[in-house]
Amino acid sequence: MTATPAWPPQSAPRLHVETQLGEGVAVPVDGNPAHYLISVMRVKADDIVLLFDGRSGEWAARVRDVRKRDLMLDCISRTRPPEAVPDFWLCCAPIRKGRIDLIAEKACELGVAKLQPVLTRRAVVDKLNFDRLHAHLVEAAEQCGRTALPELGAMVKLDALLKGWPAGRHLFFADETGGAPLGDALERHRGPAAFLIGPEGGFDPAEREAIRAVAEAVPVSLGPRILRAETAAIAATAAWMTINGDWRGPPPTA
Ligand code: SAH
Repeated sequence: MTATPAWPPQSAPRLHVETQLGEGVAVPVDGNPAHYLISVMRVKADDIVLLFDGRSGEWAARVRDVRKRDLMLDCISRTRPPEAVPDFWLCCAPIRKGRIDLIAEKACELGVAKLQPVLTRRAVVDKLNFDRLHAHLVEAAEQCGRTALPELGAMVKLDALLKGWPAGRHLFFADETGGAPLGDALERHRGPAAFLIGPEGGFDPAEREAIRAVAEAVPVSLGPRILRAETAAIAATAAWMTINGDWRGPPPTA
């Protein structure tokens, strides 16, 4: 008896596309994604590729024509419905290239719903390359199996963010000068949340006061050591996912 091959094949490359996917839809691929499929993954006609468009889950598609710089895929059938990601935003000050790229990649892998850049007074960087950040989110989503990218917010100033803060969304504020121990704070404040992480230079005293004045703000400490901004962002997200996100199992039965 021969074993039935896995469907979709486990080795199938995964690719994010802009085309709205559906049964029978033809999907043209060019540019860097085509280079990835043709030259890196060496796909041939009839190979299966997994596609996601950020809205409709994941689809298996068959390679039709492979040319030098582009190829055409035929979308066959849906392999997974869109998954729900926990209602968690990561709000962080822009930091240097490389370090902010790391935050984007890890935020996507960890299951963040939205990445929100926030401009603060001591930020060393005041512009971000959103195309590059988007590319990091896409690559991370392809690799980790997400069917939708995290939303990438436009840069906002801290005071605007605080002014429009949505009622009912906890604002965990990573305050390097001290706050509630994180584990306790997370257990006490369940539900939709966001983490606010400062830049390399930290928050200034007036900013700290303004954040603490928001009704939803929960100042927290990430322990006795000063973490780099990207370490704080990644560690805080992992901690939230563990206590309140989708790393948690069902509640124990008594
Ligand atoms: N230059 C600042 C440190 C900034 S660290 C100083 O020397 O005080 C960058 C950001 O990471 C901080 O603004 C804060 O949001 C977060 N962070 C780092 N370590 C932290 C800690 N131990 N507790 C809470 N937040 C921390």
